[in-house]
Parts: sequence; C-alpha cells; structure tokens
Amino acid sequence: MQFETLAIHDPHTPDPATGSVTVPIYQTSTFGREELGHRPEFFYSRIGNPTRQALETSLALLENARFGLAFASGAAATMAALQILKPGDHIVSGIDIYGGTYRIFEQLLRPWGITISYARDESTESYARCLTPETKLIWLESPSNPLLRISDIRALAEISREKSIRVAVDNTFATPYFQRPLELGADIAVHSTTKYLGGHSDVIGGAIALNDPALHTIIKNYQAAAGAIPGPWDCWLVMRGIKTLKIRMKEHEAGALHLARMLESHPAVARVWYPGLPSHPQHDIARRQMSGFSGMITIALKGGLSAVEHLLHKTKLFTLADSLGGVESLAASPAKMTLGALSPEERDKRGCTDNLLRLSVGLEHPGDLEADLNEALEGIPV
Ligand SMILES: *Cc1c(COP(=O)(O)O)cnc(C)c1O
Repeated sequence: MQFETLAIHDPHTPDPATGSVTVPIYQTSTFGREELGHRPEFFYSRIGNPTRQALETSLALLENARFGLAFASGAAATMAALQILKPGDHIVSGIDIYGGTYRIFEQLLRPWGITISYARDESTESYARCLTPETKLIWLESPSNPLLRISDIRALAEISREKSIRVAVDNTFATPYFQRPLELGADIAVHSTTKYLGGHSDVIGGAIALNDPALHTIIKNYQAAAGAIPGPWDCWLVMRGIKTLKIRMKEHEAGALHLARMLESHPAVARVWYPGLPSHPQHDIARRQMSGFSGMITIALKGGLSAVEHLLHKTKLFTLADSLGGVESLAASPAKMTLGALSPEERDKRGCTDNLLRLSVGLEHPGDLEADLNEALEGIPV
C-alpha cells in the first residue's frame, strides 16, 4: 500500500470493540487483571497503553520498519536511542545537529564515559576520518538543523556495516514522507513528532523506528524503565497529524520552493540553503535519497544580525518561535535561539553565523508569504 493509505488505515482502526474510526484515547494509568498470575497485554500505562501502541504501529508503518516506539519528546527519543551505547563507546556525529542533541552528547553522555567526535563537514570522508576502534554509532541529521546539510545516508551505512557501527538518523526535517533512512541502510530513525508529524504546534513528542530486534529490546526496556512515555492524549494528537502528513508535506514543500527561489534572487539575501535548489551543495544527494525537500529554508542576510532583527520585527506572517513543522510559518535565529547552548566558537565552527534566519514555511498561501517577506525585507540594512 502507498504511504497515505498506510497513514490513514492503521491496523488499530476501526476499533474492534466499538467500531470507532479513530483510535480511542485510553486515558487510564492501569488495567484490571482478571486473576492473580495472569499478565494481560496491558496492565500499566508506562509499560504499555493501547493508544500509544496504535501510534507506535503507525510510526513503524510510515518508516517501513519492524518496530516503532513513541516517547514524550524528541529529546527523550534521542536519549533512548543512545542507550544502545555503553561507557567507553565513541560516537561520530554530524557537524550540524539540533542544539538539544548536542547538549545530550556533551552534558549527559560525556560525563558517563562516552566520547563524541564531530565530522568537519557533511561529506562521507569527514565522518570516516573520525572513526576509531571504539566507534559504535554514527549520528546524523539530514537535512540538518540549521544549515540543511545533506549527508549521504547510504554511503555512511555502507562504511559502517563492515565495522558493525550503527547509524542513527534524526529524520525530523525530512519526515518519512520524503525520506526513509532504514530503506537507505540506517539502523535507527529518530523523530521529534513535535514538528511535522504532529504538524499543528500543539504537542511535544518523539519517536524511534528500527528493524533490529536486539536494539529494539534494549530501547523498549529503557522506555519502560526510564518512563519518558507520551500520554494517550498526546499520542492521539500525533496520530491525527500523521493522517494528513502527505498533503501537508507536499504543500510545505511547494511553499518552501517558491520562497527559496524568490529569496535567492533578493538583493538583501547573501545566501539561501534549501535542498531543493540546484545551488544547494548537496542537491544531487538530496535528490537521490529524498523524494522531496520539505519545508525548511535557512537564509543568510547581508546586513547581519541587525537585518535579522529588522525582518523579524516587520514580518506579519512569520512568528518568531523556536519550533518548526506546524501549519503556521515560523522564523528563528539559530545563533540566538536553537543553538544557544553552543559556545560562540562551536557555533562558528558549524558555520552558524549571527546573520542566519531559519524559516519554517507553513501552509499559508505562498503568495501571501512572499508578499510578507518582500515587505519585511524592504529598507533592510545590507
Ligand atoms: C525539535 C527537535 C528535536 C528535539 O525534539 P523535542 O520534541 O523538542 O524534544 C530533535 N531533533 C530535531 C532535528 C528537532 O528539530
């Protein structure tokens, strides 16, 4: 079956008990047991809940994976995926990663004896150069936050397989509609469902999809033991988002391509990063491993931070906010906001300059967004 059909017809609907065409919200902490000594499928909602199970099944279907697991946030999903490591292990990370993931690496993992190296750029060779005999995991985002760098997932999976290194891909920016990392050879796909999967800026959530039963057991045990699980209501919201993922992503992409082209020819704009533009340095890899380019654009303004401030002050349709992937357009300053956890030197190394502006293109009419940006760019310092 095709993607949108799988997104709508999950195996849990219609509900066998009532015929409800949506998955019921089982807002319960516990389940009555019939008798002592009998362990039913559901008994305590940290361990398992039917609404969460329905979301987990749906996530697995979307990523074409054997297993799906849902978490209370993308950060919780990231932390859970990293439980496949132990002290002494080494991670090779993509250069450009979500600020919160960097914080997990540096503030949580390093004190526990796990070391991390960051590739110098997004090329396969720079990841390969960081590998050591202790390397157990390559972690990357593609497209990455905030510079929308594209790493060659298939090539990285190939160099890792020989060495029994696992590859985890944070697939938040692409979504499984445009990119399925497991099909490209990765071992783990991670999501912040807060973003496109939820899609309406009304829920915080995370997810993992994977095929390997041994890794699944480790991460599922961690989920049950550490307990960063989403409540049934939050699971339901993410499921509702998933049903329209395809049509939303197509529109996000169309709007983003329209604005990326317009911004690329604007005199106040120094540079535009959008994987769908031929000018993007890894456009060819993006075309190979993605079926579309999603709705995120990052621009550099000639006028520096004061130009960023000018645009943010004047735009009426792009709300200054930290998140992305919702129906409404959002703008963020990576240097001042999402990568605020990094030192200025670390930000510089990543090319994250003060003049960057990250745009999450929403589902408003692209013509209205274009007019709004043009107005906001008027009289901007260059
Ligand atoms: C937002 C985000 C996360 C963290 O997810 P939360 O739901 O905020 O915990 C991780 N990775 C990427 C790429 C993100 O955009």
